Amino acid sequence: MSRPARPQGPRLSISIRPHRLPMSDQGFTTRLVHADHRAQLEHGAIHQPIHPSTEYAYTDARELAAVFQGKAGYTYARQGTPTTASLEAKVTDMEHAQATVAFATGMAALNAIFFALLRQGDHLIASKYIFGNTNSLLMTLENFGVELSLVDATDAAQVEAAIRPDTRMVFVETIANPGTQIADLKAIGELCRARRLVYVVDSTLSSPYLAPGRDFGASLVVNSLSKHIGGHGNALGGAVTQTGLYDWSGFPHIYEQYRKGDPRGWGLLQIKKKGLRDMGGTLSSDVAHRIAAGAETMALRMDRICANALALARFLETHPQVSRVHYPGLASHPQHARATQWFGGRYGGLLGVELHDHVDVFDCLNRLRVAALATHLGDNRTLVLPAAHTIYYEMGPERRALMGIPDGFLRISVGIEDEADLIGDFARALDAVGA
Ligand SMILES: *Cc1c(COP(=O)(O)O)cnc(C)c1O
Repeated sequence: MSRPARPQGPRLSISIRPHRLPMSDQGFTTRLVHADHRAQLEHGAIHQPIHPSTEYAYTDARELAAVFQGKAGYTYARQGTPTTASLEAKVTDMEHAQATVAFATGMAALNAIFFALLRQGDHLIASKYIFGNTNSLLMTLENFGVELSLVDATDAAQVEAAIRPDTRMVFVETIANPGTQIADLKAIGELCRARRLVYVVDSTLSSPYLAPGRDFGASLVVNSLSKHIGGHGNALGGAVTQTGLYDWSGFPHIYEQYRKGDPRGWGLLQIKKKGLRDMGGTLSSDVAHRIAAGAETMALRMDRICANALALARFLETHPQVSRVHYPGLASHPQHARATQWFGGRYGGLLGVELHDHVDVFDCLNRLRVAALATHLGDNRTLVLPAAHTIYYEMGPERRALMGIPDGFLRISVGIEDEADLIGDFARALDAVGA
């Protein structure tokens, strides 16, 4: 059976490529920082240029038509530019995957997956430990007739028990925001493979640096590029990456026009057509460039963030004003062993910290001098917020209880500051409220 010729280079937005790139004998950062100039850009540029063009013109009308009909190339920037394609190629490489589509935000990426692939009457199984805005999005999906089961995905048996004949998809986060629960990622991957379910893994908190999503058998991997990959708190973006592990020929909702070529590529093509062309959740070239520049130091930042987070978690765990610290790097974390095995001895930058009931959360936070009181995570700066009063406020006390978010819960996203400054900051604030 002959396969269609594989178009070349970063022009291609939905290219199926071999799992290992020619450069893949080199390390994560080496590949990343040399990716653009190895593509032989004009004038020997080392960065992919920022292409501001909205539209792309052709001298031959037949060529224009061919690109509209699926040939590699650009038409209108809502469906991508050479600059966004270069970022997509980098994320694909980090994930050891086949192809990526970039979006304006992580939420746009998630929306594109759910709305492009699910229909009324479909059943979706999701972890009950997930980012609050994603939880809210799933409630919106329910209003469109998607049936939702929220389960404790730290145990694959609970996912299995929820499977029904109309189940189409399983959604989990690698490390859950903000409780840091770690789903039974590999066993759920096995289960999804055996039952031919689409397995969507949101890898935002672990990032492809700790583990690529294909390690867990994911069909699609979501990364918020606003977090660790961009890293500097100056750009929003999201990405959906196709690992190539899922054969879409058995999935009933792929439109006829996208059932072309290798069936492992159909799902992402539909996500791109619906999510970018039809819904318009497009990343701009300027922002894509900023994210790509930030990504160059991702491994360095992550190493530092993970080391700082572990040190801070160990300190906080012993503090008398703290009742509980949720951090996968602590031996007390229920999924510590699994995290150690899967994430190469790094545990990410997010801490969930529960203060004792008698501690005034706001008073404590107001005493911090280094950490910024702000939402967001995966930033160079340490950021703290009282989760129940902010990102989980809207969903009300019952859903918060279901998701394990008590009133005294602090979400701390650890940055790259000097360790002693960070620990000193929390020590001063907690000692003062305890005095
Ligand atoms: C932040 C976050 C998102 C959403 O990403 P944005 O880029 O902020 O839209 C999705 N999933 C997780 C786990 C996140 O932490």
